Amino acid sequence: MVEIKSVKDLKSIMKNYFKKLDENPLIAWCTSVGPAEILRSFGFEVYFPENHGALLGASKTAETYINYAVKKGYSPHVCSYTTSDIGSYLAASTPLQSHYEIKGIPRPSLIVYNTNQCREVQDWFNFYAEEFKCPIVGIYPPRHLDEITKDDINQVVFQMKKLIRTCENITGKKYDNDRFKEIVKLSKDATFLWQEVLKTAIHRPAPITFFDGVILMAPIVVLRGTEIAKDFYQQLLNELKQKIHNKEAAVPYEKIRIFWDGMPLWGKLRKLSDVFKENKTSLVASTYCNSWIFDEFDEKYPIESTALAYTKIFINRSEKIKTQMLLNWVKEYNAQGIIFHDTKTCFNNSNAKFGLPQRIKEQHNIPTLVIEGDLCDMRLFSEDQSITKIETFIEQIEEHATF
Ligand code: SF4
Repeated sequence: MVEIKSVKDLKSIMKNYFKKLDENPLIAWCTSVGPAEILRSFGFEVYFPENHGALLGASKTAETYINYAVKKGYSPHVCSYTTSDIGSYLAASTPLQSHYEIKGIPRPSLIVYNTNQCREVQDWFNFYAEEFKCPIVGIYPPRHLDEITKDDINQVVFQMKKLIRTCENITGKKYDNDRFKEIVKLSKDATFLWQEVLKTAIHRPAPITFFDGVILMAPIVVLRGTEIAKDFYQQLLNELKQKIHNKEAAVPYEKIRIFWDGMPLWGKLRKLSDVFKENKTSLVASTYCNSWIFDEFDEKYPIESTALAYTKIFINRSEKIKTQMLLNWVKEYNAQGIIFHDTKTCFNNSNAKFGLPQRIKEQHNIPTLVIEGDLCDMRLFSEDQSITKIETFIEQIEEHATF
């Protein structure tokens, strides 16, 4: 990973974020692509269990915690964010305590999930609603859409209005449309800045790669709808533009550019980053980092545009639309191939299970590779075998490349 000065600020931003969660009694839990803006407009501090799952994976504590959830009856084959997070709760310990010096996960006043990403979040979040005897609200948009119709969005708007009524009951506050508009505007500004940050990697050599992106994305996940996220991405963008100006590459002597589909392997970020660097290969873009670009936010129509923004995301689309989005990104970033991470415990974020890599290779003449692994459970990742596959794939691209 390249040295990025803004990472230092990121650490203090995350520390302050968790400190506020620790101190504030009005907490809502939300899925990572759930309607955080509505919650913020009521004054909730918003906590994201998936962010905790990523921390468990990155700190290599997930596997220990997964065992606690398995003993409670959860299958080791279901989402390892879910099992590691629930396991951590059952074990009454979390790296949040040592990383951010806080008591632990914050107690929720409200739990909200959106099944736009998967149904697993429903089971996961209901576990906590039961544990904390806490109100819970689900948003269920139509799934895997080709086209998105007005009727589809009206369904989601209807559900979001129900969520608003629940927020009013819990906080005793009336819905404030002007405040909601301000927050949607902040989310919109931050998401476009995040997009510009990612697009700096269109430049050759790329100033950041996927491995930087998955660290730098934390504020767009947990702090969208705040000035903090917006200011952070403006500062980061300025820094990356300067890197481009100075011809600073994330991967020195970059030769090959590859697109990454699927989840990060949180426990192997450093190892894999080094492998790609040694092979002079940049992972220039990913479906994962692009998943937090919500280009439909429009403060003029705050509820409708929020419903559309969160329904339109990549993971919630048909294979036809996903394929088109992948091809567009490959072209835009000048990627010479796609690596699909077949994430064993996340069916929803794996696009390698129904022949898509083969179809893209045959129909569009783009080299593809599938590696098997997991987001948090590194027992499902065969490191030596996967690295050999990656290096062979890079060699093959290099042999056929015209520079
Ligand atoms: S999308 Fe995958 S990783 Fe994320 S919560 Fe759902 S099953 Fe877990």
